[in-house]
This record gives sequence, C-alpha cells and structure tokens, in this order.
Amino acid sequence: MPEKDFIGVISCLIELQKCDSEIRDLERKMEMGPSKINGLEEDLEVVEHELDEELGEIDSCLKEKKLFEQEIADLDRQIEKSNDKLSQIKSNKEYKAALKEIDDVKFNKGQLEEKLLVTLERLEQVLPKKEINNDRKKELKASFEKERREVMADIETIKAELSELAAKRVQFTAVIEKDILGHYNLLLSRKAGIAVSPVVKGVCQSCHMAIPPQRFNELIRGEKLMECPSCRRIIYWGDDGRLKKEEEIPDSGVSE
Ligand SMILES: [Zn+2]
Repeated sequence: MPEKDFIGVISCLIELQKCDSEIRDLERKMEMGPSKINGLEEDLEVVEHELDEELGEIDSCLKEKKLFEQEIADLDRQIEKSNDKLSQIKSNKEYKAALKEIDDVKFNKGQLEEKLLVTLERLEQVLPKKEINNDRKKELKASFEKERREVMADIETIKAELSELAAKRVQFTAVIEKDILGHYNLLLSRKAGIAVSPVVKGVCQSCHMAIPPQRFNELIRGEKLMECPSCRRIIYWGDDGRLKKEEEIPDSGVSE
C-alpha cells in the first residue's frame, strides 16, 4: 500500500472509531435515562408511602376520637335517664340495684375517657404532621416532575447528537474499502466497541500488551494495515506525525 493511501485509510478508521466511541457513550448515557427516572420514582414512592402511613394514623386517631366521644355521650344520656328514674323507685332493693347500674355505666364511661385521653395525646403528637406531610408530598412530586423533564430533555439532546454522528459516520464509511470496513465492524462488535487502537512506545493502548520490536518497527514505517498480535485490533503508531495529533486515544478499559 503506498504511504499516501495508508495514511488516508488509517486516518479514516481513526475518525470512524472516534465517531463510534462517541455513539457508544451517548447510547449508554441515553439508556441510563429511563432507569434514572425509575429510580427517582421508586424513591418518591417510598417516601410517599411513609408520609401516607403517618397521614393514615392521623385519620384513624380522628375516627377513634369521634367514636369515643359518641360512646361517652351515649353513656352520659344513659346516666341522666337512670338518675331521672331513681325518684320514681319505691323499694329500697330496686333503688340499690338502680344505683349499682349507674355505677357500672359510670365505670365504663371512666374507662372510655381514659382511652379518649390516650388518643388525644397521640393526636397532639401526630396532627401537626398532617400539613407538613401534605406539603412534603407536593414538593416531592414537583421535584420528581422537574427531574423527569430534565432527563427527558437530555435524552432529546442525545438523540440529536446521535443523528449528527450517524451522518458523520456515513461520510467515513463511504470512503473506506468494503473489506476493511467489514473487518472494522466485526472488531467493533467483538472487541468492546474498540476496533482501532494506537500503539505507544511499543504497547497496544487497548489491551496493554507489548508488540514485538520487529512488528513495532514495521508499524512505524506505516506501509500497511496491521493488527495487534494480542487483541487483534487494527493498530497504528500513536506517535505518527503524519496522523492528526489532536485525536483522542480510544481506550476501552478492557484488557484482553
Ligand atoms: Zn492489543
């Protein structure tokens, strides 16, 4: 392969790799969007559930309070009636029995009053939470909605970036020879999204294995496409002045 052609091909492959790495990163980022929303929603549900439980306790305390008050009022009426009847009783025995009955009702009333007191004390503790919890629920819901909208907006931005990259990718693939492109695509799918790797100071920057010196010399000469003897990725000399310097070195973070 003449030098000019080689540099042209490898430059294109490097650009294509940059494009594909960006696409991969963006796709990962985009995939994280829905799971982030789900996570936020789960957090919201947990806190809402806690708040609802407290609100539920307040409701049941209020119901209990009403019930006890009604029962106490009923007993009061019963006592009143029994007291009225007392004056009409003639026999001593009946009178004593009626008094005993009144005492029993009073005793029951006393017990209910104690229960009511406990409920009232509890209510005093939990009632202030009613407003606080309802406000908190509204706040949480609003902040969840805000974050959800942000994540959705991010996804839209990423989609736009991805379609730009897809267009860019087409430009590069159009000029790369079919066989080389096929090989590149195969490597891309099999080698954790990194098909092209620079070699710096004799070491492949993707698998971090050393290239034998003779092969490295061959690589520096840059006359043909070469592959890493360890990871089989397409390699190029990372310090090659003929290639653009500003490019980023793709690193899969995967050693093979
Ligand atoms: Zn390698």
